[in-house]
Amino acid sequence: MTKVVRLVVLGKQGAGKGTQCIRLSRHYVIEHIATGDMLRAAVKIGTEVGREAAEYMEKGELIPDDIVIRLVKERTSTGIAHERGFVLDGFPRNVHQAEMLNNMLLPDALDAVINLRVPTNLVLKRIASRRVCADCGATYSTLRPPTLNWTCDNCGGEVVQREDDTEAAIQRRLDLYELETKPLIAFYRHHRKLIEISGVGQEEAVSNRVIAAIDDVLSGVSKPTHSQTS
Ligand code: ADP
Ligand code: ZN
Repeated sequence: MTKVVRLVVLGKQGAGKGTQCIRLSRHYVIEHIATGDMLRAAVKIGTEVGREAAEYMEKGELIPDDIVIRLVKERTSTGIAHERGFVLDGFPRNVHQAEMLNNMLLPDALDAVINLRVPTNLVLKRIASRRVCADCGATYSTLRPPTLNWTCDNCGGEVVQREDDTEAAIQRRLDLYELETKPLIAFYRHHRKLIEISGVGQEEAVSNRVIAAIDDVLSGVSKPTHSQTS
């Protein structure tokens, strides 16, 4: 039986989590679970969760933990995520969510948590030029648009600027990152799961660094320690 791989990627808004998670999910053939994408899809379809989430998201606030935890629980317990594993993108976002995730996975555990490090001045630039497919969540930028007319290369959907990529909402999300999400770095360091990787550079260079570090952990060559930079 193949080993199930369970990963979390942490990083500020615009650190490149989404892009790196897609690459990881292809490389390890595991499910990419992005809570932001799931919530945006729910808002678009107008489900009950979507109706409740919309007002939080527009302002850049976090959705109540119980809603997000329920979504993640459903997704991780079936299909490819259950059989082969997953990479979580945008979850957990605070210590309570991280504790719930640990409980949810018992008797198993996460294999590794990657912290993608990018300086704030760079993420601000990246977010300003960020564009996403309204249908599948694929990310583009004004510097790297889809091939044809802001139509998604993946699915043909319309590529737009995210509604919460306004200056005020971005600032709020970055503040919440410092307040709520940054403590997760100490949390996972304490649990000996943390791998710190620089997210600066070409996408492929970054993913090569990330995959090499994960492979070392999966094969037992190294165990995440206090500070593993690359
Ligand atoms: P970003 O990383 O740029 O903030 P995401 O797509 O990860 O974007 O999330 C968009 C929004 O979805 C967040 O601002 C928040 O409102 C909501 N959200 C996503 N994941 C979570 C989570 N784990 N807990 C609470 N809210 C979440
Ligand atoms: Zn698309």
